[in-house]
Amino acid sequence: MLEASHRYFHRAADLLDLAPKVREVLLTPNRVIKVEIVDETDDGKLMHYTGFRVQHNSARGPCKGGLRYHPAMDEDHATALANLMTWKTAIVDVPFGGAKGGINCDPNEMSRFEIERVTRRFVDRCKEVIGPTIDIPAPDVNTNADVMAWIMDEYSRHYGFSPGIVTGKPLHLFGSDGREEATGRGVMYALEEALRDRGRELSGSTVALQGFGNVGSHAARLIAERGGKIVAVADHKGGVSNEKGLDVPALVTWAAEHRTVAGFAGGDAFSGSEIIAWPADVLIPAALEDAIDGTNADQVRAQIVVEAANAPTTPEADTILARKGVLIVPDILANAGGVTVSYFEWAQNIQQFRWELDRVNAELEKSMRRAYAGVRELAKEKSTDLRTAAFTLAIQRVGRAALSRRSLRENIDLG
Ligand code: GLU
Repeated sequence: MLEASHRYFHRAADLLDLAPKVREVLLTPNRVIKVEIVDETDDGKLMHYTGFRVQHNSARGPCKGGLRYHPAMDEDHATALANLMTWKTAIVDVPFGGAKGGINCDPNEMSRFEIERVTRRFVDRCKEVIGPTIDIPAPDVNTNADVMAWIMDEYSRHYGFSPGIVTGKPLHLFGSDGREEATGRGVMYALEEALRDRGRELSGSTVALQGFGNVGSHAARLIAERGGKIVAVADHKGGVSNEKGLDVPALVTWAAEHRTVAGFAGGDAFSGSEIIAWPADVLIPAALEDAIDGTNADQVRAQIVVEAANAPTTPEADTILARKGVLIVPDILANAGGVTVSYFEWAQNIQQFRWELDRVNAELEKSMRRAYAGVRELAKEKSTDLRTAAFTLAIQRVGRAALSRRSLRENIDLG
């Protein structure tokens, strides 16, 4: 996975003719943390997990990024995803660097108390090297506001009341209005911009969606509210389709109860893997990495792919989709709405001043459209695709900050 994110980086770095020395400065993580978590399950068995936190780059501010609980979590994943956060925060121009972390546990197999214990142990092991001006975790796959509340509580036991240590907290515990749906809302704005590039609009466009977690479900709801038609949704247990458009609020209720979209009565069932080849105008991968790879990219029928998940398209698939003329809105732009509102939450915590929802959403919309426009402009100027342009913009911003904070012997031109 790390190799894939490096390939995208080098494609943009080549365009900028970036010296090998600068590439190494920008690609090397600041700090890689690995901790062992050994505790007891509720019924007295041993649980032993490994936790990771990779702080990739802090040239533009404290490291920022989610915490993921998933059996596949390892150093390679954390490093690749931390890398992406560095570029993502630069693209939406929030004053943060990039980080990511997680624990290789499966919360679906654990009790609430076990998840809490594992979370507190993780914080205890990392507390000296995270903090509101050092590294600020947030929700990611399989973590949520409850987990953030435990992190805040555990950290605050040592350092005093510190709401700014995490974002994505519960509203009643200094979270921000609009944070939970922010990534999905940002995906919707990114999709609107992409459709505009193709001379179309949301109303009447058909969308196939892979993944119905926090990001996918909010994106689906907001797209449907604006007249888009969600014609198929799949998750790891199966899929459901309706060519007239699924009733998204009813699907949300079903999925909350059954923890899957499979079995929903408002459409026809299909095997989840077919979603990639679904006949729709737009495909939104909102699940895990590598969903579109060399084996299925050729089957994609959508004209636009909006990467709501992180790293859902392998470089091989990226090349195939480009050849087919598919417009890809890359993850580091498309799903940047989450970290944007995380910044608003952190700013509210630091200022001890609450923003109203209208302000959060208005600022988010402005920020997403500005970021998209900047990437679109650079893509035109350099005659390249949106992903390479997004990486180029990010490398310029992070590179300038990094080089101003240290001296290299020669002058480096970042374009
Ligand atoms: N986990 C989210 C992401 O991948 C949000 C990170 C954050 O808000 O810090 O962008």
